[in-house]
Amino acid sequence: MEFISLGRSNDIGASSHYLRIGGHGIVLDAGADPNEEGPASLPDFFPLENRRVDHAFITHAHHDHIGGIPALNAKWPMARLHLTPATRTLTTLMLYSSARLQRRKFYEGSSPFPALFEEEDIDDVYDMFRTHNYDQWIDLGSEHLRAKFYYSGHLLGSAGILLKTSKKQRIFYTSDTRTEHQTIIPGGSYPSEPVDVLIMESTLGADPVAETVTRAEEEIRFAQRLRTVLDRGGSILVPVFMLGRAQEILALLGRFKKEKLIDPEIPIYTAGGLREVSKIYDDYRMSTPRMDPDFEVYSVQQLRFPRTHKARRRALNRPGIHVLTSGMMIERTLSHQIAMELLEHEKHAIFFVGFSKDDLPAGRLLHAAKSGEEGILLNTDRGMQPIACEVERFRFSGHSHRKELTALATKLQPKTIILIHGETDARAWMKEELGKRCPEARIFAPDQGELMSV
Ligand SMILES: [Zn+2]
Ligand SMILES: [Zn+2]
Repeated sequence: MEFISLGRSNDIGASSHYLRIGGHGIVLDAGADPNEEGPASLPDFFPLENRRVDHAFITHAHHDHIGGIPALNAKWPMARLHLTPATRTLTTLMLYSSARLQRRKFYEGSSPFPALFEEEDIDDVYDMFRTHNYDQWIDLGSEHLRAKFYYSGHLLGSAGILLKTSKKQRIFYTSDTRTEHQTIIPGGSYPSEPVDVLIMESTLGADPVAETVTRAEEEIRFAQRLRTVLDRGGSILVPVFMLGRAQEILALLGRFKKEKLIDPEIPIYTAGGLREVSKIYDDYRMSTPRMDPDFEVYSVQQLRFPRTHKARRRALNRPGIHVLTSGMMIERTLSHQIAMELLEHEKHAIFFVGFSKDDLPAGRLLHAAKSGEEGILLNTDRGMQPIACEVERFRFSGHSHRKELTALATKLQPKTIILIHGETDARAWMKEELGKRCPEARIFAPDQGELMSV
């Protein structure tokens, strides 16, 4: 078997990997780096010159796993794209919204790059989608290779993939995974028998705190902090990813209201694409793994976050919770704009609930607040702003923490472990820890473009 990481493997960027197994060319995910624009955001398919791609497995609809699908399809139009039904629905929505956003940025002049793809390209891609449910062997038209999706516990539709060769070699790709329950979706499921090769994510590998807190404790702390801010008349911004974190947080807020941990009358505001995603979550509630199939995200009352400046001021000046994208507060997004409005007022709060890269506004603000810096520059026009509001981070990740990941690896007894999807120090911790836990295994943390024969 050959393995090549096509995206930057030492980062949470474009996730895409190539495997050659018994003459078949396989691609695992075709993401784009959400922090880059234009061609630099795409996986580098160059190492695959003169190679064939027969099948691609798309594990979930986050941009860092799907944004490069049109480019993959343009290069290998005959490659079939395998995914779960919910991932197909979400991927189509996310790619359409990405095409619109890229076009707008180019016309506005905020990006020098024309859109990488248009709506027609997504229609071409759609023709190559092949949907499969979890736990069913997928016929790849060859007696030498079969595949099976495992529910990965990360978000709606997310999957890990098991590949099995005619020589009984078993390769498992975790993709983004969470072994423990969230509010809407339960923890993932994994192969019950050992695997030969484990390709494993490492997102939280450099996070020593995540494993020290339980979700139940974190929920209580979150509810208490929300209540304190609301009681003093403040507004709370909760920056979220539109897919996954947004719906989980809304479900949690709904539960807090039901249990009267926060005042049931407090308005919750949402906006934009996350509302469409919530609808898809509800549409699939009976056909995908759920903690409670009767729960609907839209049963949690939500107001649309106002568009006009005046109405926004009014909404922010009374106690309320604003669940807005983007999660990392990327410049020009709603969460970035509203953070600048709340930052200078003591009564307000910004509560982070997901992962952020250190060099993006969410990560920078969190760091500045924790290290007691007096101000932060979020926008050059606005200039330096004092940090007066409360800034806190709560751990409601859709990823397993590093000890859960290493425990999963130990259970799967792989002969080879390939660490991907994590910053350099995250993969380094995982490599060292796995070296102790799985002493028999060969462990690799390959660089982008590095060809490995396993
Ligand atoms: Zn993801
Ligand atoms: Zn990811």
